Amino acid sequence: MRDDTLHLETLAVHAGRDPEAGDQGLAPAFKPATTFLRDAKGDYPGGHQYSRGSNPTRARLESALAALEGGGDAIAFASGMAAASAVFALLTPGDHAIVNADAYHGITRFVENWLKPRDIGITFCDTAELKNIEKHVMPETKLIWLESPSNPQLKITDLAATALFARERGILTACDATLASPALQRTLDFGIDIVMHSSTKYIGGHSDLLGGVLAARDINIAERLRGWQIDAGAVPSAFDCWLILRSLPTLPLRIAQQSATAARIAAWLVEQNAIEKVFYPGLATHAGHEIAKRQMSNFGGVVSFQLRGGERDALAFASGTRLFMQATSLGGVESLIEHRASVEGAQRRSPDNLLRMSVGLEHADDLIGDLDRTLRELQQ
Ligand code: PLP
Repeated sequence: MRDDTLHLETLAVHAGRDPEAGDQGLAPAFKPATTFLRDAKGDYPGGHQYSRGSNPTRARLESALAALEGGGDAIAFASGMAAASAVFALLTPGDHAIVNADAYHGITRFVENWLKPRDIGITFCDTAELKNIEKHVMPETKLIWLESPSNPQLKITDLAATALFARERGILTACDATLASPALQRTLDFGIDIVMHSSTKYIGGHSDLLGGVLAARDINIAERLRGWQIDAGAVPSAFDCWLILRSLPTLPLRIAQQSATAARIAAWLVEQNAIEKVFYPGLATHAGHEIAKRQMSNFGGVVSFQLRGGERDALAFASGTRLFMQATSLGGVESLIEHRASVEGAQRRSPDNLLRMSVGLEHADDLIGDLDRTLRELQQ
């Protein structure tokens, strides 16, 4: 379903869900087949040949995701990193890319390990300031990789201004919008060429699948990305596609509630003496608040903070909470807390005392109670 007059909540329920041919079932069927029958002429009457190339369940998911992103083509991947690496595969030796310095640490590791040794120049900079991008652009720059909001410091990049700057110079822009999801940020509307999500997070929403997605409006860009998806075999399983289809209708509702609870938690954290700094774009004091208000419909469910003290206190805090489970990832129904620096490995760059929380669907009072008790126990 592609209908620009419909609201996101309506699209989330109906996109990719036209009744199944045959039994008219309203829930999409799960089609695990990897290979499909040819007819007497050697054609593929079902429209699919082999599931690395295309699969009915994946095709449904891709059409639903394209509708949520506001058009163009959406391409589903086995994970967020599989999606991101398809974008970086557009670069060839001698090219240069600018990458958000606060991008997800897996992106940093990927470009360090796999792009730099292949003669692709990389400059990390704080893309929240356009002047930083301006400073590092060179004739070889072919890609600007953004992440907004960024993970874990929730920095906001001005998407429209950066897209315009890049377009005037013939540079491709891609934005990892995992923390916003398509429900809070229509990234392509701001002129960004490629939007990427780890659908393992909010899109999947239940911490039980891995997935990634890219969407692009330019058909040539989309075709090249799909070419990589198929040639590299970076495809998600039909079952994971089916799970995501099942999750999409509740995405707007889940992230609205998670945003509301996260806003309450961020405001509470700001009041605590034991907290040094709170990172949440919904706070009026956040450096990117005004831009976030313009380009997002809500501020999301991820809140980071720095605890007064060092790494030991932060680790003790993360293992002291009871409702916030100490585990990596974000965007699920359960609240998670994590000490980021200790999972970032060689590319460690988060402050020692930074904790990142993914706010789930529990009651806000219970979550604040959990944080309050943990803080008090730490101070004893
Ligand atoms: N981008 C962001 C912002 C992430 O948080 C993550 C994973 O945590 C990824 C990309 C990578 O996604 P995946 O783990 O699905 O490969």
